[in-house]
Amino acid sequence: MKQPSVCTECHDPRFEHLVLFNAGLELVADGFRWVEGPVWFGDHNCLLFNDIPNNRTLRWSEQHGVTVFRAPSDYGNGQTRDRQGRLICCHHSSRSLTRLEHDGTVTSLVSQARGHRLNAPNDVIVKRDGSIWFSDPLYGLKNDYEGGRQESEQPPALYRLDPDSGAVEAVACDFDGPNGLAFSPDERFLYVAETGAPGAAEPRQWIRRFLVGDDGRSLSGGEMFHRINPGWADGFRVDEEGNLWCSAADGVHCIAPDGTLIGKVLVPMRVSNLCFGDRHHSRLFICASQAIYSLFTNTRGIAAP
Ligand code: MG
Repeated sequence: MKQPSVCTECHDPRFEHLVLFNAGLELVADGFRWVEGPVWFGDHNCLLFNDIPNNRTLRWSEQHGVTVFRAPSDYGNGQTRDRQGRLICCHHSSRSLTRLEHDGTVTSLVSQARGHRLNAPNDVIVKRDGSIWFSDPLYGLKNDYEGGRQESEQPPALYRLDPDSGAVEAVACDFDGPNGLAFSPDERFLYVAETGAPGAAEPRQWIRRFLVGDDGRSLSGGEMFHRINPGWADGFRVDEEGNLWCSAADGVHCIAPDGTLIGKVLVPMRVSNLCFGDRHHSRLFICASQAIYSLFTNTRGIAAP
């Protein structure tokens, strides 16, 4: 099978047109501890991401390189933008989600659910209707490296937050460790990474696929969609054709909507998360352990956020 470039591995002909023969993996920046939460701000031509153990949010642009966007970040993890373009961030130490307003003030969106404090919100997306969907596993409570040990007050769950009313509802509770999440382009399906119980000998680690109900909020299904190997699925994004570009131990795996691994982007370090960015939304920005890499592709991520 044709290998489109030296940094990619083609497993299925459907992958060939998604990548470019003359685009290479670029080391964008390094020297971090553990990077997460990439989100593209086209209006500022920059990438924001979190260096979780260093408790800071960083900004990278082609013109200015890496600068500090905010510190401390309350151990920020997953990030996205809402329909008004505002930054939504998950925080481990404050066990909350915040929204950065256009005037620079910070609004706490949610820190409790079901009558108890959240655990450590991990990743977040915004649906076209403005609702905010986020995962709340235990990982960020378990060590000092990513926010400080704290006691859990409730089991992990996946939540939907109505930003207008503030109502928060658990939409799926049968998770050991919900993690990254993304909707299909038509928002008919919701994909959620299950990364398993912390410390489990044989953790459940696979991507689940839910069917979104006609009401736009209820979920059914939740069957195993794909199991990443090597490693596991943490954060991922969906392109315009509905392919999942997913973190893995050896790079980024591209999974077709039927659940087949069709290709890989090989990255020298374990990948935690990624996003599409740049002018056409066709450049992958990859959070890989202590570094940020990028690759120009021949597809486009579904419109920001
Ligand atoms: Mg995550």
